[in-house]
Amino acid sequence: MHELSIVSSIVESVTEKLASYPGARGKEVRLRVGALASVIEDSLQFCYGFATEGTPLAGSALVVKVLPVRMLCRSCAKEVEIASLQSFRCPICGEPVSDLRQGRELEIESIEIEDEVGEMV
Ligand SMILES: [Zn+2]
Repeated sequence: MHELSIVSSIVESVTEKLASYPGARGKEVRLRVGALASVIEDSLQFCYGFATEGTPLAGSALVVKVLPVRMLCRSCAKEVEIASLQSFRCPICGEPVSDLRQGRELEIESIEIEDEVGEMV
């Protein structure tokens, strides 16, 4: 599964970052995923659940923020948001557009951590 390798590398990179905060546990990981990144959110969520097992991210939430596709329309000389992934046409003038400016991202936007302070052992 494509999503599993993506999630595994995200979990690995977040776990590495958390290593500099002893005792810290991940609470929420926010991702920015372009509409053309070809990942299915349900699969990401599903994989996240078991990829985080036994890591400081166990039980944390994965929040996926989908970024719309944005392309540059040469006729309008501006960046436009493409609503349909079926046809890449400028919503203003209707001309075909192909100059992708946003839509293939797959990156960690932020990580919220929860530390152990206040918890009695
Ligand atoms: Zn246009």
